[in-house]
Amino acid sequence: MIRTALADFVSLIFPRVCLACEEPLACGEDHICTGCRAQFPYTDYHKLPSSENPLARKFWGKLPVRYSLSYLRFLRRGRVQHLLHQLKYQGQQDVGRVLGRWYGAELADYSLGTEFDLIVPVPLHPRKLAKRGFNQSDTFAEGLSVSLQVPWSATALRRTEHTDSQTQKNRAERWQNVAEVFEVAQAAEVLNKRVLIVDDVLTTGATLEACAAALLAAGCSEVSIATIACAEN
Ligand SMILES: [Zn+2]
Repeated sequence: MIRTALADFVSLIFPRVCLACEEPLACGEDHICTGCRAQFPYTDYHKLPSSENPLARKFWGKLPVRYSLSYLRFLRRGRVQHLLHQLKYQGQQDVGRVLGRWYGAELADYSLGTEFDLIVPVPLHPRKLAKRGFNQSDTFAEGLSVSLQVPWSATALRRTEHTDSQTQKNRAERWQNVAEVFEVAQAAEVLNKRVLIVDDVLTTGATLEACAAALLAAGCSEVSIATIACAEN
């Protein structure tokens, strides 16, 4: 009771706001308000057969991807973009953890909890990691790991080259740019495992494809992908 009163008092002085819409959070709400949670553009790809999953189509004819999953649709100037900005540039690591926990719980409800042996986030280049202080994909992996009860590893994959900024490049150049930059650090860690590769946002899919290729080459038995959000074009 005293604790609640104290928490209420603290939130009067430092109001906790929703990290998606900036409105004050009600008691018991966890970083994201109930209203945003109800209105998020969920993809629900895990409920679709693979033939109808637009994300799965991005990998057809390139690599065998078992499950292609994304929690939200990325809409510019919307709440999802705001959330991802908070995570990536404002150091709000709880965004990734909370979304990972929620998404993991939903996937577990759809019996996907037993489909993966290891969760592997897309690594940042060490220089970028040092600058940002954390890898936003690690936070999502951590949340998913809690709900799915599947271990995650921040060290299974590593980047070998620094990539230039990708924004000025076309799709083919982007692929060239990332194709060689991921490698598996310890093959024994992924050998014969069903790996779920996770990232914050998927646009072309080239980065996840490069990670999947490296993991498959190192002997993992199958790869799946999951992102916080994906662009639908
Ligand atoms: Zn909100």
